Amino acid sequence: MDKFNLQGKIALVTGSSRGIGFVLARGLGRAGAAVVLNSRNEDALNNAVDMLKNEGINTYGSVFDITKKDQVQVGIKQIENEIGPINILVNNAGIQRRAPLEDFNEEDWEAVIETNLSGVFFTSQQVAKAMIARKEGKIINICSLQSELGRQNITPYAASKGGVRMLTRGMAVEWAKHNIQINGIGPGYFITEMTKPLAEDKEFNAWICARTPANRWGDPEELVGAAIFLASSASDYVSGQIIYVDGGILAAI
Ligand code: NDP
Repeated sequence: MDKFNLQGKIALVTGSSRGIGFVLARGLGRAGAAVVLNSRNEDALNNAVDMLKNEGINTYGSVFDITKKDQVQVGIKQIENEIGPINILVNNAGIQRRAPLEDFNEEDWEAVIETNLSGVFFTSQQVAKAMIARKEGKIINICSLQSELGRQNITPYAASKGGVRMLTRGMAVEWAKHNIQINGIGPGYFITEMTKPLAEDKEFNAWICARTPANRWGDPEELVGAAIFLASSASDYVSGQIIYVDGGILAAI
């Protein structure tokens, strides 16, 4: 099991004050990594940091907005100088906006693309500069079923997550020579703050369960195994791949 051990590594997980990011950070921490949590809301972030510290995980917090390039630069530099080299980056922060495409307003379009796609670019570029100098690194981009599929009312989200899939492949091609592996995880349906409105909608809930071969929503904990694999030396010859953790949906559709 040594290949999966993350002892001595530092992992930055964006958007980890709650939801999938928090659970992934906790999982990487339990596998031995020191973790740096991030979000825009300082109070929520401090609470999340305390929760992981109480578990005995070496945890830090870094408040920055991934859509603001200058904040990303300052935040990453501060982590590298004050905590240590970022060995693992998980680009997890993301948002959702729902409306029929013909009525989708420009402000929401920009928020979705800036957070889900430009934010991944800004953060990866800044972290990769240091990884390139060290000739080592792991980057995991959180994709979605919408990296592959369209769905009613969330076309800008699908455009952003399709973009993340191609950003993952492009980064894998450009940075392989620096010994950086870049992969994605594509979650199916997991109940978090983002998907609460869907889970509470009886009709949608029934549709999701019927559409998923596993016949249920996922538990964010079920994403942790893929994250540890992609963050560890067990995946040193794996790059440019997206692992879909989706209860079999993509195999069935
Ligand atoms: P949540 O809404 O529960 O959590 C999102 C996190 O991102 C929060 O910590 C939030 O904190 C942070 N965040 C949002 N915007 C920014 C920003 N600009 N800069 C820094 N942090 C930010 O979402 P989920 O846990 O459900 O989703 C996490 C990821 O997983 C997303 O990329 C999502 O697209 C993806 N995903 C989720 C699925 C699901 O079923 N839940 C399915 C497929 C993919 P704050 O607002 O305080 O900044």
